[in-house]
Amino acid sequence: MVTRVAVLGGGQLGRMLGLVTYEWEGVPADTARALQGEAPVLPLPRALEVSQDRLVEKNTFRSLGIATAPYRAVDDRASLDTAIGELGMPAVLKTRRGGYDGKGQAVLRSAHDADAAWAQLGGVPLILEGFIAFSRELSIIAARAADGEVVCWPAAENQHVDGILHITRAPAPGLGDALQVQAEACIRPLLDSLDYVGVGCVELFELDGKLLANEMAPRVHNSGHWTIEAAATSQFENHLRAVLGWPLGSTTPRGPSAMVNCIGVMPDRDSILAIPGAHLHDYGKEARPGRKLGHVTVTATDEATLGERLASVEVIVGPRGSP
Ligand code: AMP
Repeated sequence: MVTRVAVLGGGQLGRMLGLVTYEWEGVPADTARALQGEAPVLPLPRALEVSQDRLVEKNTFRSLGIATAPYRAVDDRASLDTAIGELGMPAVLKTRRGGYDGKGQAVLRSAHDADAAWAQLGGVPLILEGFIAFSRELSIIAARAADGEVVCWPAAENQHVDGILHITRAPAPGLGDALQVQAEACIRPLLDSLDYVGVGCVELFELDGKLLANEMAPRVHNSGHWTIEAAATSQFENHLRAVLGWPLGSTTPRGPSAMVNCIGVMPDRDSILAIPGAHLHDYGKEARPGRKLGHVTVTATDEATLGERLASVEVIVGPRGSP
C-alpha cells in the first residue's frame, strides 16, 4: 500500500478543505478539533467525545432524560465489587473506550465471573451495566440540519450474531406510532444538545414496550443502509444535504425492507441478483473472518413477500452472515 502524506503549513489545509465531515466514530476528537481551525467540522467534535466514552455517553443520555441500563463507573478491582453489589447480576463489563461489535466486553453471570472479567478487561477505565433481557434491539437514525430541523427514518430492528449486526428489518416489524415517537425521543434531544449537523444513530433495547438507549453513533450507520433503496432519501444523501446546508429530504420508506450483512466472505453475486427485489453491495474489501465485506438489501411491497425474499437471501448468505 502506498500512503501519500502531505505536510502542510498554517492555512494550507484550510485552503484545500471547504468542509470536513466523517463517517467513522474512531476519528480522534482532538484531531477533529484541530481541523476546526482550518475548516468547518460537522458534526461538531463534541459528538465524537461523547460517543467515544461509554460513561460520558450514558451520563449524557441520562442528563437529557433518555433512559439507559443502570450503570456504574469501574476504575479498579474494588469498585467492580461495589458496582456488582449495587447493580446485581447478570451484568455486562465494558471498556469505556475503543469497544465495538461486542469487543471489549464481558458478561458476568455470577460474582464468580468477576475475576475472569477483570483479568480480561481490567487496567483501563471500565463501566459495568445491568444486563438487559431485551425483547429486541432497535436503532433510530436521524438527520439534523444547521437550522435545527430533525428528520427521522422509521426505527429499524437489528439482529446481531456474535456481537456483529447480521440483519436489519426496516421499518421494525410491528412498529407503531407510539414506539416510533419513543424512539425519536431518544435521539432528538441528543442531537439538539450537541448542536449536531449530519446523520446520527442511537442503538436501543426494547424491554416491555419501553426503550433504553445503549449507544450513539455520530455517523451514517450500518442499520441505515436499507435507506439507499427503500427510503425516499438515503441516510448518505441526507448527511450530505445537512452538512452542505441543503434542505433535508423525506425519510418516508418505500415499503418494507431488510438488510443482510455479508461477513467474512461475499455470497455468489448471480444467486443474490436472481432474487426479486435484492440489491447487492460489495465494498471491494479484502476478505477476512468477521469483516463486513458488503450487504444485501431486499425490498418488497408487503411483509409476506419480503419474508420469502429475505429467507432466500439468508440461505445464500448463510445464517451467520457468511456462506
Ligand atoms: P455494544 O458494544 O454496547 O453495542 O454491545 C454489543 C451488543 O452486546 C449489543 O448489541 C447487545 O446485543 C449486547 N449488550 C450490550 N450491552 C448490554 C446490556 N447492558 N445488556 C444486555 N445486552 C447488552
